[in-house]
Amino acid sequence: MPAPRVQRTTTPKNHPDPTGLGFGKYFADHMATMEWVHDRGWLEPEIKPYGPIPMEPAAGVLHYGQAMFEGLKAFRGVDGVVRLFRADANARRMASGALRLCMPPPEPKLAEELCHALVAVDRDWVPAPAGTALYLRPTLVATEGFLGVRPSQRYLFFVFSSPVGAYYSNATGGLEPVKIKVELKMTRAAKGGIGAAKAAANYAASLYSAAEAKKQGYSQVLWMDAKDHAFVEEVGTMNLFAVINDELVTPPLSDSILAGVTRDSLMTLARDRGMKVIERPITREELESGKAKEVFGSGTAAVVSPVGELNFEGKKVVINDGAQGPVAKGLYEELTNIQRGAKPDTHGWLKEVK
Ligand SMILES: *Cc1c(COP(=O)(O)O)cnc(C)c1O
Repeated sequence: MPAPRVQRTTTPKNHPDPTGLGFGKYFADHMATMEWVHDRGWLEPEIKPYGPIPMEPAAGVLHYGQAMFEGLKAFRGVDGVVRLFRADANARRMASGALRLCMPPPEPKLAEELCHALVAVDRDWVPAPAGTALYLRPTLVATEGFLGVRPSQRYLFFVFSSPVGAYYSNATGGLEPVKIKVELKMTRAAKGGIGAAKAAANYAASLYSAAEAKKQGYSQVLWMDAKDHAFVEEVGTMNLFAVINDELVTPPLSDSILAGVTRDSLMTLARDRGMKVIERPITREELESGKAKEVFGSGTAAVVSPVGELNFEGKKVVINDGAQGPVAKGLYEELTNIQRGAKPDTHGWLKEVK
């Protein structure tokens, strides 16, 4: 990729206190943008100040929902070096999801290089304390102003970033187990649908259930298969793992499960530690009868989120006495130590931002 044109901000923002970042509240100074136009393909990428995106009211994304995104992190290592974690995997996932939504796939190498170029410009925004990162949000939306129902003929790919803190950690630095409501009526994604793409529409489909669960004192929902609600699929916006008979079990990928990069990383690390890792369907009955010693979600934002309680329409199943379990804790520590350069990256997951 030729180096993108960079227009630096003339009004840099103050950096927030790295001990109170939360998630997605602050945005770094710049964003990368690249347009796609029918008959011309991708135009030259640019890096410019973070700010509003002009858009026609008739833009396709605002009506027919051609929108998808990615989420990945840049870390400042214990040696001070800034590195991106598995950006190639996110770029490939966006390219495959784009095809499902009839959008032009950004070439993965180019998307990855644009993420690196953006982080190089906003390098000062990558926080240093353990548990913090610069979260990148690559996004692809339809921008053509046209109301006929067909794929748009103009798109915008953009990437911006947000310095973030640890997602759900308690005062002692451990992971706070969450209470989860098992969703036995609504669904997030169905066979044949778009659940395997990181489509904005999947999030829209999930908000109502999540809001109801929150009203009832739960932090998220457990999604089951859309047909019978008999098999477990994902937890909130995370992939799901359970420890059953000392094996690490996760549902096999399908068109209703998102192929998480964290999911893949944790399976690899668990195998490295000699654990048996199995992709197979997990039934409602297995979790309801209390067979799982641990249940946890995995995703880029929180890395690992242990589940302390599952509520099946009023029937409560407490997992590992409501405490964080050893597998969740071990995998969380292993992965976050690799990400901050405190442990060797034997799988080549980190790439230095030059
Ligand atoms: C993003 C996402 C995940 C987690 O993917 P990571 O690559 O690990 O961040 C899991 N499930 C859903 C539905 C998601 O949207």
